[in-house]
Parts: sequence; structure tokens; C-alpha cells
Amino acid sequence: MSDLVVVRRAGLYCVPGQFYIDPWRPVERAVITHGHADHARTGHQHYLAAAPGAGILRARLGAITLEALDYGQTVTHNGVTISLHPAGHVLGSAQVRLQYRGEVWVASGDYKVESDDTCAAFEPVRCDTFITESTFGMPIYRWQPQAVIYAEINDWWRANAANGRSSVLFCYSFGKAQRILHGLDPDIGPIICHGAAEPLNRVYREQGVALPRTLTAAAVTDKALLGRALVIAPPSAAGTPWIKRFGDYSDAFASGWMQVRGARRRRNVDRGFVLSDHADWPGLMQAIKDSEAKRVIVTHGQIPTMVRWLTQNGLDAGAFETEYGGDDQHEDVAPAPPAASSPEAAATDA
Ligand SMILES: [Zn+2]
Ligand SMILES: [Zn+2]
Repeated sequence: MSDLVVVRRAGLYCVPGQFYIDPWRPVERAVITHGHADHARTGHQHYLAAAPGAGILRARLGAITLEALDYGQTVTHNGVTISLHPAGHVLGSAQVRLQYRGEVWVASGDYKVESDDTCAAFEPVRCDTFITESTFGMPIYRWQPQAVIYAEINDWWRANAANGRSSVLFCYSFGKAQRILHGLDPDIGPIICHGAAEPLNRVYREQGVALPRTLTAAAVTDKALLGRALVIAPPSAAGTPWIKRFGDYSDAFASGWMQVRGARRRRNVDRGFVLSDHADWPGLMQAIKDSEAKRVIVTHGQIPTMVRWLTQNGLDAGAFETEYGGDDQHEDVAPAPPAASSPEAAATDA
């Protein structure tokens, strides 16, 4: 039997179904795994996505023709039965299950195995072929439980507040920001949120996700209060007048990439918190095992390492070249490596 999904110029393509999954060029029919910019692009004629993510897609893409499916609900298109299953990555994120003449393929999109309260938990889906992401597909990537990271963030905030310094936490605006908000202890002080994240907070709240109260920077004028504030801001806000209003603040960056040696210094921040919305190495291995797939196709990240490891472990492993991770506002993009001549270059390769 020929492959159910192949790579075409516009993206991953379901051959008998005649539709694309997260295409990077405009197409007629697109199944969208989630609202991050490198997966959900403008210009498609017809979108199919999981219902909990509909508000996010509309907030980011505007007026689109969108068919929203509940998780687990099926729809048949050109003989291919499609259903969407939670990927645990961000609100509304889904794995795409395709069934055609008794054969099942699952395209994971981005996923995270550890569950959190801001989106539906990752659901293992059995299949013959599993197309998996591999953003953090190297054995060095192992996350601590998120509760440990939230405690670190709150301790850092509390210590700064005691010294009258604002705490500026850089993170991506969709997904990471809301997860961090959910983990904050609002008793420490006011929480200020940059305008890039606030519209997404609104969508999360509309979907019933409990987030603490967030304020605009303009709403906090009292100097003492400002010194107790935690500020959530996108990386692009670094160095802007908006950030400078917080004066002599302490800053931090939250991302899975903070586990890479030298990443905090390259971001030039006081602290790095290792918190990712992607599976770590054990999480990827667990998801692949639970899928019971005999064949695994790796996309989006550390392809050679994963393919080698899976092949050594008796699986039929291959790769798809995709254009995901091309948006710098997304954790999928690895931080720029240090210049070859810099003294830290040799150390970070270790
Ligand atoms: Zn993503
Ligand atoms: Zn991605």
C-alpha cells in the first residue's frame, strides 16, 4: 500500500484525502494541528481544527472558513476518516488521526506529554505510522516536573519584590505565557502582561482556563506596586521603551532551550527557567512507544539523532523535511549558536 501522507511543496499531504496538514503555502483544504504561526498560516480556503483552538485561530488569522471538530469526533473526506486528539502542547492543539482502508496514520503536530491545566492532556493514539515532531529530540533534554519550575519562578519573583525590583519574564505569548500565568502565586504582587499576550489570555479565559488577574503596564502607576510586579513579555519586547519603564528590573527567560549551556548568557538575562511546551527526550520515546507504531517518520527538529536511535531500536524510521519552526516567535526555533570564535563555543558543543 502506498503512503497515506507524503511531503509536497506546500506541506504534508494526505494523498487519498486530498488535503494538507499544517501546510506552509496556501492550499484549498488544510487540517491545522494548532495555532502557532509556523503551523497555522493564512491564505487557505478551508480550515479544519480542534474546537478548543478555534478562538485562537480566529484571534491570530482573522476571518477564516473554519470547521471545528471536537476531540475524538470523526469526519470523512474522500474516504479518509479524520479525527483530532489532544496533543497537550497549547490550547486546542491536536494530533491528526487518519484512517484509510484499515490503515491508521497519526501526525502529532507539536506535543508535550506532561499534562498541565491550560489545555487537554496528551492522548496516546495507536497507529501503524506515527509522524512525530522532534524539537527536543536529543537525550540531553530532560525536563523537571513543571511544579519545580513554577516554584523557582515564584521564589525569584518573591526575592525581587522584597528588594523593590520588578521581575520581567520573557516568554512566547501563546501557550508559554498562559502556562506561566497559571503557575504564578498572585499573592506576591501585581501581574502585568504585555499587549502581545493579553488577547490570547482572553481566549484562554473564554475556554474556561483559570488565569490570575493581569494588568496592562499603564494601569500600574504606583512605584512601590511596580517594584512588586511580575511582567510577562515576549522576547521581542527586550530593549523597547515599553520595558524600560520598569527601571532597574531583574529579567529571566523561560524556554526549553534554557537547558542548553550558554543560552541564558546569549539572551543576556539574569535567570533562565527550563520550561517547554514540547516533549523532552523521555517524553518523545514514551509517545512513540505508546503509539505502537511500527513505522515512525520524524519531522521538525533533531531528525538525524532520532532516526538513528529509532532504527537502532528496531523501528522503521524515516524523516520528512518540513518548514516548521521558521518563526522566531516560537520555541521550535533553536537559539542562535555562539559565534565560532567566541570562547564559549567550544564549551557549548560538549
Ligand atoms: Zn507549537
Ligand atoms: Zn512547531
